[in-house]
Amino acid sequence: MTLSEKQRLFTKLVGELITWSYANGYELTFGEAQRGKLQAEANAAEGVGIASSNHLRRLAVDLNLFLNGEYRVDSEAYKPLGDYWKSLSTSECECAWGGDFHKPDGNHFSVEWNGVR
Ligand SMILES: [Zn+2]
Repeated sequence: MTLSEKQRLFTKLVGELITWSYANGYELTFGEAQRGKLQAEANAAEGVGIASSNHLRRLAVDLNLFLNGEYRVDSEAYKPLGDYWKSLSTSECECAWGGDFHKPDGNHFSVEWNGVR
């Protein structure tokens, strides 16, 4: 699968995640999707991301979760979305949830590319 093909599949899968979320009582707003190289490097220097982030490749999105109108920042609140997201994985496209990362990042949804999640 080429990068362009994976980017298009990722976008389609994010649509499915959003649809599932609203059908299950979750509301969302968009956070960061594409990130520039300088921002990724600055984030990495501050320890809030990695310089090779999949946000650079249009393979990651941060979604802001609202439950009963309340904005949630705790990764645990995002777990049902993370579980659903991972269930969309196929043999050629691994969907990764930031809540599983060494440093949990619950609002981050991405697909694997060359070992980066
Ligand atoms: Zn992210």
